[in-house]
Amino acid sequence: MERTLSIVKPDGVARGLIGEVVKRLEANDLKIAAMKMIHMTRSQAEGFYAVHKERPFFGSLTEFMSSGPCVVMVLEGENAIARYRELMGATNYKEADPGTIRADFATDIEKNVVHGSDAPETAAFEMGYFFNSFEIVG
Ligand code: ATP
Ligand code: MG
Repeated sequence: MERTLSIVKPDGVARGLIGEVVKRLEANDLKIAAMKMIHMTRSQAEGFYAVHKERPFFGSLTEFMSSGPCVVMVLEGENAIARYRELMGATNYKEADPGTIRADFATDIEKNVVHGSDAPETAAFEMGYFFNSFEIVG
């Protein structure tokens, strides 16, 4: 069993895609172990994406991520990190495999509907950023 952090980003929430994302998670045997809606401040978004602080897109990304509410979730399942990233598709929706969330719904390399942790270490940091141990069931 492995856990990963999922976010329905502000574009996904604004466009009414929370249910669509959750439906795909449940259909693919990724159990939701924690879930809440948040609206990050700019500095909370900067802390979350600190690994990208030297990237040219950092300012725009953190502005976008703090522009509206997000749904943050902890997902649990066998090989959850890799399986959820497969469901998301490539960062650039133009390169994402057909049938993935980003191929089906993203409109922009930045506004790509969902986030998912990329490794066990980042998953641990990201889950701890939003949830304490009492908020994660299972
Ligand atoms: P995420 O971390 O959101 O799950 P990812 O791991 O596929 O996505 P990262 O390389 O970690 O991609 O980039 C984080 C986010 O920054 C991307 O999801 C996207 O919103 C934005 N981003 C990445 N590359 C670019 C870029 N070249 N231009 C603009 N925004 C970008
Ligand atoms: Mg990433």
